[in-house]
Amino acid sequence: MSLASLKDHYDLVIVGAGFAGMYQLHKARALGLDAVVIDANAEVGGCWYSTRYPGLRCDVESILYSYSFDEAIQQEWVWKDRFSLQEDIAAYCAFVADRLDLRRDIRFNTRVASLDWDEKSRQWQTRTHDGDTVRSRFVVLATGALSVPILPSIEGIDDFAGQMFHTARWPAEVQSFEGRDVAIIGTGSSGAQIAIEAARTARSLTVVQRTVPYVLELQNRALGEGELSEIKRNYKGVRRRAMAEGAGMVFSRLSRRSIDDFTPEELEAEMERAWQEGTSCLSQTFTDTMTNRAGNDKIADFIRRKVAASVADPAKRGRVTPTTRYGAKRLVIANNYYDIFNRENVDAIALGETPIVRIRPDGIETTERFYPVDTLILATGYDAGTGPLKHIHCHGVGGQDLNAALAAKPSAYLGLMSKGFPNLFIVTGPGSPSVLANCVVAIEQHVDFISECLDYMRAHAVTRIEPDADDQEAWFERCNEIAAGTVLMDIDTWYNGANVEGKPKAFMFFAGGLPAYEQKLCQVVNDGYRGFELA
Ligand code: NAP
Repeated sequence: MSLASLKDHYDLVIVGAGFAGMYQLHKARALGLDAVVIDANAEVGGCWYSTRYPGLRCDVESILYSYSFDEAIQQEWVWKDRFSLQEDIAAYCAFVADRLDLRRDIRFNTRVASLDWDEKSRQWQTRTHDGDTVRSRFVVLATGALSVPILPSIEGIDDFAGQMFHTARWPAEVQSFEGRDVAIIGTGSSGAQIAIEAARTARSLTVVQRTVPYVLELQNRALGEGELSEIKRNYKGVRRRAMAEGAGMVFSRLSRRSIDDFTPEELEAEMERAWQEGTSCLSQTFTDTMTNRAGNDKIADFIRRKVAASVADPAKRGRVTPTTRYGAKRLVIANNYYDIFNRENVDAIALGETPIVRIRPDGIETTERFYPVDTLILATGYDAGTGPLKHIHCHGVGGQDLNAALAAKPSAYLGLMSKGFPNLFIVTGPGSPSVLANCVVAIEQHVDFISECLDYMRAHAVTRIEPDADDQEAWFERCNEIAAGTVLMDIDTWYNGANVEGKPKAFMFFAGGLPAYEQKLCQVVNDGYRGFELA
């Protein structure tokens, strides 16, 4: 693969070659800007290239977890499954890169070490770990929200003698658990997906749960040719309708009623219908899932009854039955998760009842018993939102540190820019809908905004843009006010930073939905970039 050699100067430096960086490069070219992408990986695709644990599958439908901007590409590409495996999404990204001839402007295998703003020339200086230096008027951080893993500190973990990996740093060659004694610590999306995979072939599998998850049914299946061509016949319409929904997804039907508006019989029927439709339909079908705690308890109870019907062994059933607040954490959605606990080789630990005493070289010792383990999987999540920026030393006006600013208050104005860091844009950054929605939709929304802004600046001879401090503060307050009115702050999650020691508990995303956010972006532009200072 030919690599872009770096020049001394560009109009735009883009960090990251995932969905966001690829589209940003394409848009920059269309504007006639000289742009380069720098990425630490050896290929395009971002986390969909670098995260390769067995069983990794997207829980947003393939037809919508894909670019909408190019009609020929969306007509040509054939999705195999309703929900795609990692390898298919990685192949799709490679296909898009081929079709748009993106790689000639991507410098792979290169990490950005630092970004420094020079006020005099109104330019950023990007330094790579290889020692290259590049100057540019603009920088776009397309670094994603979830890439920096959290490693648990558990007594004895460093002495573990078997294989041990975090899901985000998965060795490509490990794709089978045949004959292994596997333990998975963590039961978010990653842990649940690997558990399903490992259950099939491992000699033993122990699922170690701190918070016992509610797992919805994905209802994955192969996409029929007829179904796909029906979508492609009116792809534009499907995309437009997805944009009108808070999470950027469409379902066959949503009730759009409060959960309290149903009689018990009607509610049971609606929950069953939504469960059978799969993915997050059970949460999306009611208007008040995020705000109605009593209503959420009804959904939680419905899922507990699903667990009871699925898991035969009463002791195991007790351990995998969730009890905490439903809806506050990112939903875990997988295919037939609860069924794995009917296998003799699969067991679960509920740390609330039997905590880990220590990890030994050959297994896990809890207050109850010892579990032999030779493969320890850390599915313990990410330093989300602000985490991916921490590896870049970014210094703005007067040498101020972006990471210090975000550590104090994890939010950018509209999730896009931070005061004191002119001409530096963040795609799906903290303060935007980002991970609360279909990320590809959120990415296209941001890249379109940024590209229009770059075009506007050039047309109006503007060379510097940064947000107003008061508007940025007000936006942070707004994001937290919206979250405070919901269940999203009820428990500690990666959404609110409380999964990372020392990180302030604050809501890092805009929970008002994509349409409201789109309206805000449009109004900002209509009002001459209200909330931004242009010079
Ligand atoms: P996660 O949702 O943050 O889950 C981490 C898990 O590790 C939680 O169960 C957590 O328990 C547990 N944990 C953390 N530290 C622990 C410790 N010291 N001891 C015991 N347990 C510990 O992380 P993830 O599963 O990697 O998922 C992150 C996000 O990535 C997802 O929410 C999703 O947005 C995305 N993702 C998507 C897909 C997909 O599309 N299907 C697949 C994978 C990931 P607590 O709950 O008690 O904190």
